[in-house]
Amino acid sequence: MARYDMIILGGGIIGAALAEELARHGQRVTLIERGSIGAEASSAAAGILSAQMDLAGPGPFFELCQAARRMYPRWVEHLERRTNEPVGYHVDGILALAMSGREERAMTRQARWQTRQGLRVERWSSKEVRRHEPAIDGKIRCGFHFPTEAQVDNVQLMRALSAACRRAGVELQEHTAARRLLIREGNVRGVETDHGPLEAQVLVNCLGSWASMGGAFPIPLPVEPARGQMLAFRGPKRLIRRVVMSERAYVVQRRDGRLLVGSTVEFAGFEKTLTLDGIHAILCGLRHMTGSLGACTFLEAWAGLRPYTKDRLPMLGRTPVEGLYVATGHFRHGILLAPITATLMSELILRGRSSFDLSPFSPGRFS
Ligand SMILES: Cc1cc2nc3c(=O)[nH]c(=O)nc-3n(C[C@H](O)[C@H](O)[C@H](O)COP(=O)(O)OP(=O)(O)OC[C@H]3O[C@@H](n4cnc5c(N)ncnc54)[C@H](O)[C@@H]3O)c2cc1C
Repeated sequence: MARYDMIILGGGIIGAALAEELARHGQRVTLIERGSIGAEASSAAAGILSAQMDLAGPGPFFELCQAARRMYPRWVEHLERRTNEPVGYHVDGILALAMSGREERAMTRQARWQTRQGLRVERWSSKEVRRHEPAIDGKIRCGFHFPTEAQVDNVQLMRALSAACRRAGVELQEHTAARRLLIREGNVRGVETDHGPLEAQVLVNCLGSWASMGGAFPIPLPVEPARGQMLAFRGPKRLIRRVVMSERAYVVQRRDGRLLVGSTVEFAGFEKTLTLDGIHAILCGLRHMTGSLGACTFLEAWAGLRPYTKDRLPMLGRTPVEGLYVATGHFRHGILLAPITATLMSELILRGRSSFDLSPFSPGRFS
């Protein structure tokens, strides 16, 4: 039986980031992925690194997002240097549009508590919005600009991360599915895959929406798939200069002109299908913001499954089985939270404690 120090299940951004981190700390790591690295939620995402814009209030999750944001520039620099693969990281900001009095009041409250936390939020009049984003010509009351928010090209990032894993010595086993865990006397011993058993005394479940393994995981992991549909168009470069969002839709433009428009949040099981209603809702939301993207040409559409938990917080930490860990449930923030998750989980696994209190994210909190 092949033997490793550590087995990581799931080759999304969370599993790959953690595998790379552990391998750089001298561990013999294998990463087990049923399909191809990054092919699920991690490539379906929009790559918005929002540590402020969509956060409800201060608290442990807010702090985790701030730590992730601080860490990002060094992480992408490391990946780009190791692999020569650019990942399209840009601190262009996010512009959130208020279309109604209710939205304006909610955003004003948000701007107030975030300013008190020392973060930057600027209120822009509708005229200022037009000046900074000429393509945004919908009926808006005002905009809130979060200048320190960033974006990354998550598809390129997954390519770089996969290359970085290889360089760090991670053994990538793609097209290999984990079937059941091997546990003896309360200790994890490895995993049974469809290509045979693998042995290790440390195993981390980074299976995203599939974390419960159809009930085969030894503790209950109530993670549900939350489908997001996305559309891509091509338009003139720099048509949209920063991520622009409303309550109903968002638009992100990559440097090559690709416009990503999203997204729905739907509970439709593991169905990654696109629906007329979903596409209609996204396009109506976009039309509400702008009428001037009409000539952009359609490129493609897809759907992905976000790992959702009832309290919308990730699950990060140990399980009662010795050597068995969980890092999943990142819902709408997995691209942002990948480097901090990798760092904290690696600290927990290698040193027995992490530098950030993970108890609010305990995988056992629902049982
Ligand atoms: C439309 C959409 C837009 C999003 N936009 C953003 C955004 O702008 N910013 C942001 O931060 N986040 C965003 N997200 C969320 C983000 O994509 C997720 O939080 C993140 O990708 C989760 O990463 P993961 O590695 O946990 O899961 P995944 O990427 O889903 O990876 C899990 C992996 O496990 C594998 N797997 C499953 N079962 C098995 C098995 N039995 N054996 C082996 N492998 C298995 C799967 O094939 C998959 O590759 C978005 C998500 C979607 C769908």
